[in-house]
Amino acid sequence: MNYVSHATCMICNKTFEKGKFDYICPDHGNEGILDIKYDYDAIKKEFTKETLAVDKDLSIWRYKPLLPVEKTSKGPNLSVGNTPLLNLDSLADGLGIKAFYLKDDGRLPTASFKDRASAIAVVKAKEAGAKVITTASTGNAAAALSGLCASMGQANVIFVPASAPQAKIAQLLMFGSNVMLVDGTYDDAFDLCLKVADEYGWYNRNTGYNPYMSEGKKTCSFEICEQLAWKAPDVIFVSVGDGCIIGGIHKGLRDLFEMGWIDKIPRLIGVQAEGSSYMYQAWKNKENIVTKPATKAVTIADSISAGLPRDRIKALDAVNMTHGAFIIVSDEEIIRAIPDLAQKTGVFAEPAGAATWAGVKKAVQDRMINPDETVVMINTGSGLKDINSAMKAVELTDMKYFKVEPSINEFRKIASDLKL
Ligand SMILES: *Cc1c(COP(=O)(O)O)cnc(C)c1O
Ligand SMILES: [Zn+2]
Repeated sequence: MNYVSHATCMICNKTFEKGKFDYICPDHGNEGILDIKYDYDAIKKEFTKETLAVDKDLSIWRYKPLLPVEKTSKGPNLSVGNTPLLNLDSLADGLGIKAFYLKDDGRLPTASFKDRASAIAVVKAKEAGAKVITTASTGNAAAALSGLCASMGQANVIFVPASAPQAKIAQLLMFGSNVMLVDGTYDDAFDLCLKVADEYGWYNRNTGYNPYMSEGKKTCSFEICEQLAWKAPDVIFVSVGDGCIIGGIHKGLRDLFEMGWIDKIPRLIGVQAEGSSYMYQAWKNKENIVTKPATKAVTIADSISAGLPRDRIKALDAVNMTHGAFIIVSDEEIIRAIPDLAQKTGVFAEPAGAATWAGVKKAVQDRMINPDETVVMINTGSGLKDINSAMKAVELTDMKYFKVEPSINEFRKIASDLKL
């Protein structure tokens, strides 16, 4: 039993009864992503802020009545959720805003936001009795699925571009997945994975295809609002590739609003890389998101490199319905943002996470934020995922470090150069 009532197609709004849909609206093919709907009145009867406050489970499963999984289903051993919301007053002062928080999802078990979605995927696959789960990914969704599958003893097949960062590929191999390094882009890997899933009948976790992924990603909104004692922030910043995270964040906020737990929905600001800016272009030029063809995607921020954002309809809704915005940042701004954020907060982010920090600074400069507002930025991935990019920042910023002979006299010679 769960509280899902039905699902609707994001394009034609057609309704699908519970249990009567697979992944997508058959009338709209791969574009026809579904939105999962809940019976909030029934949920309200058993699930309140008070019952939640005494729940000792701090993982995402504390929000189970608002998730599309059976009441009796058990989550994987690997605990997902409960990442810290850092209160950064000194940064708020510097930015000239009331309050600034950083939600650090780089601390999830496989070190990216994607664990939230993959946790739902492994449970839904188990409910469906699936033998094999498959996904395509730029790297993090793969690592997340791979790790969660390992924790459940679940067979899986993963498609990633051969160019994915080494750390992400290492994760896949260590977790024992069947790893397919695709000679092509993420978009190529995605198309291949869909064909394979279809032909072999495997459970398909793909982003912007499996409608439950947004439902996992929305738990980040639940945590942010709960950590702020149910006072929703004014603005949330997150980086955007396929658009599933921003769509999920939006969904979580709408859930909480429907439940009456928050009294407003924050503006959502999606940060894209200049070289992979499909959503920004579509939003700015008011283009038709369903028919707009793929664009080229070239950026150092591999996790947000998406020529055809698979969850673009939900992503555009997230920004338009909250009166938010999309903004773009250059690769140089992204690289510089890695050490800047790390040095100001102690949070080491991968390029896609640091892009969000670059976006916050740009938005403040462009006066998109009012001085009395509370802002949350989400770091979506750990910097340890992509050491090469971090080392590029060392070069680009001419970062100073020392080679020293093991002698106190030698040390004395350079001591005056230290930043102390
Ligand atoms: C996947 C990912 C994103 C972007 O999420 P989308 O749903 O593709 O928009 C951002 N940052 C990191 C680290 C990611 O892994
Ligand atoms: Zn449809």
